[in-house]
Amino acid sequence: MNTKLNKLGWLGLLVAPSFLAASALAAPGWNYPDALAPGGVSSWGQIVDSTSTAPVPLNYPYSECGVGQHQSPINVNSADLVQRSGSDIINFYYNTADALQVVNNGHNIVVEGPTTTPDKLYFGTLQSYDEYTLVQYHLHVPSEHTYNGASYPMEIHFVHATTDGREVVVGVLVQEGATNPELQKILDNAPPTGTNVITTIPGVSINPNGLLPANTKSYVTYAGSLTTPPCSEGVNWYVLTNLIQASSAQIAQFQAILQNTPTIKLQANARNTNLLNGRLVNLKP
Ligand SMILES: [Zn+2]
Repeated sequence: MNTKLNKLGWLGLLVAPSFLAASALAAPGWNYPDALAPGGVSSWGQIVDSTSTAPVPLNYPYSECGVGQHQSPINVNSADLVQRSGSDIINFYYNTADALQVVNNGHNIVVEGPTTTPDKLYFGTLQSYDEYTLVQYHLHVPSEHTYNGASYPMEIHFVHATTDGREVVVGVLVQEGATNPELQKILDNAPPTGTNVITTIPGVSINPNGLLPANTKSYVTYAGSLTTPPCSEGVNWYVLTNLIQASSAQIAQFQAILQNTPTIKLQANARNTNLLNGRLVNLKP
């Protein structure tokens, strides 16, 4: 795990300095698929940290992937949607970054949020709002969220956090169509192996607004988790209802990057969908 990815504390639980022995901080490897084991238990949750001398269950660092009841992604069923009234308006204030900062973390291609002029996400009104900072964004093929059981060719996740550790992930579903110029910059500059080293590409600007649909106001929202180990819950999800497009060649290029990354060797990096377990799924039309 890359501590540089955790500059705002996101995913920081396993790497933050603590009283735990260093050996307990070494996270064991994992990969896709997160296939269901007999009995419906997530296989990631069953991974044992062989370097840990801690007793059960503390030597299962990803146990939340298996026992959590508010896991992501989910299948969004149109019949489950509850229309949300009120003013929970989402506002993106993303900027063009002068130099693309990209890392292959062994599981995904991740673009770092800029630090000099951070990208922001606001909820609410000018008088009363919550402010989140974009930490990073990354890609999944096929989509992790499904709609009425159907997946999309790709999904982009924009990970945001507040300074006190609250997390919001915005999901953008991608359908096959026109070439997306901003996505192409990420694909063409993706490090080929999972070195966990952030590569700065001078002269290649990146505008994350180009990875958002023209209309960002409508979304589906629910309480969920990280979709990768340790699958921590307490993440508020906003899946935009409007889609963007990427070409079939771009989708294939990302599949090839995953296939050629030694710790993945698959053409997919999407977790299975999880049970709602009574959670509400709200629609902001
Ligand atoms: Zn993701």
